[in-house]
Amino acid sequence: MTDTTRKLASIRRISALEPIEGADRIECATVDGWKLVTAKANGFKVGDLVVYFEIDSWIPCSIAAFLDKNPKTYEGIVGARLRTIKLRGQISQGLILPIKDILGHMPVPADENEFVEGYDLTDILGIKKWEKPINAQLAGVVKGNFPSFIPKTDEERVQNMTKELSKWTSDTNHWDGSPREVPDMLWEVTEKLEGSSMTVYWNNGQFGVCSRNLELIEDEANAFWKAARADRLEEHLMNIGENIALQGELVGPGVQGNYYGLSELKFFIYNIYDITDGSYVSPEARRFVVNALNLDHVPVLGLYKLPVNATAEGIVSMAEGRSILNNAKEREGIVFKHVERGGPSFKAISNKYLLNND
Ligand code: AMP
Ligand code: MN
Repeated sequence: MTDTTRKLASIRRISALEPIEGADRIECATVDGWKLVTAKANGFKVGDLVVYFEIDSWIPCSIAAFLDKNPKTYEGIVGARLRTIKLRGQISQGLILPIKDILGHMPVPADENEFVEGYDLTDILGIKKWEKPINAQLAGVVKGNFPSFIPKTDEERVQNMTKELSKWTSDTNHWDGSPREVPDMLWEVTEKLEGSSMTVYWNNGQFGVCSRNLELIEDEANAFWKAARADRLEEHLMNIGENIALQGELVGPGVQGNYYGLSELKFFIYNIYDITDGSYVSPEARRFVVNALNLDHVPVLGLYKLPVNATAEGIVSMAEGRSILNNAKEREGIVFKHVERGGPSFKAISNKYLLNND
C-alpha cells in the first residue's frame, strides 16, 4: 500500500529453465515468482543474471526491436506493452534480455560484470508503466497534484516478494531438529476490484476528492465527485473531525467499462489513512469505521495465515475465482494485508483474468 516506484526493469537471476512439451525452440524461465517463455537461442543458463521486464512495462522499440511488428505510441514513446500471454500451453509474463543487449543504452560505458542482482534499470531504459487510459467521466477538471500528505494507492505483486514470502512462511528446523516457529502472521484477504482508484480527505477543515494521480475540482459530471456526494463523504469526514483520508476503488457505470455491470456508482473502501499520524489504520479499525458509517467496503474474503512454505505460484492460484460483486465474472485478484497497523501488503492477480480481460 505504499507508493512504491515500480522496478519495471531490473537485474534478476534465472532460478530455473524448463522444457516446454512439444516445443523445440523455446523454454520456460523462472525469475523470482515469474515464469516466462524465452528462445533457447538466447543460450541462457540457470544462475545467469538477466534484465527482466515486468508485465505492463511499456518498452521502447529501440530496446527490443523485435517488438516492432505493431508499434504504438504511449506517453510519446514508440513501443509495446508487455502482456500476459500463453504459448504452447505455458503462461508467460514479462521478458528477459541478456545484459549485453542493453549496454548500448547505459548513460556511461558499462561492463556486463558490473551489474548486480536487484539493480533498477526502469528510468535508465525509459520504461513506463502502462495504465489503462482514463475515460471522460473520470478525467475531471484538475485542481492540482495529488496531495503530498497522503500516499498514492498501490500494491506490490506477490511475484516480486519471494524473499519476504520465504521469511514469513519458512518451516526450516533449528540446528537441534526442533521446528522453527512459523511466524503467526494473520492476513486480511480482500477482493481486488477493477475500477479506478479514488481518495477523499479531510485535512485542517478542507475536503478534497482525488483520482489516482490528481486532485479534482468539484464538478457534477465527474464520477469521483458524484460518488463522493452520493455517499455524503464530506459530512461524514467533517463529523469525525480528524485529518484522515478514505481510499478505495470507484466502480460502476462510466468507470473503465463497468466490468461488474453495476447499476450505480459505488466507492468501495480499502484504506483509511491517518494524516496526522502519517500511517494507515489497521484493517480491523478500517472495517469498523466503514461499517459504522454505512459505507461500502471492498469484499472481505476472510482472515488467513499463509500456508507453510507458500510460493508466489501457489498464492497466484488462490487469486482465481468468481467476483463477489458479480458471480458471472472472474475476479481480478486478491489483496493481502497484514492485520497489524503499518504491516506489509501485496496483491495477487488472477492469471485467468489477465489472459481473458486485460
Ligand atoms: P493495480 O490495479 O494493478 O495498479 O493495483 C493496485 C490498485 O488496486 C490500487 O491502487 C487500488 O486502486 C486497487 N484495488 C482494488 N481493490 C483493492 C483492494 N481490495 N485492496 C487494495 N487495493 C485495491
Ligand atoms: Mn487497477
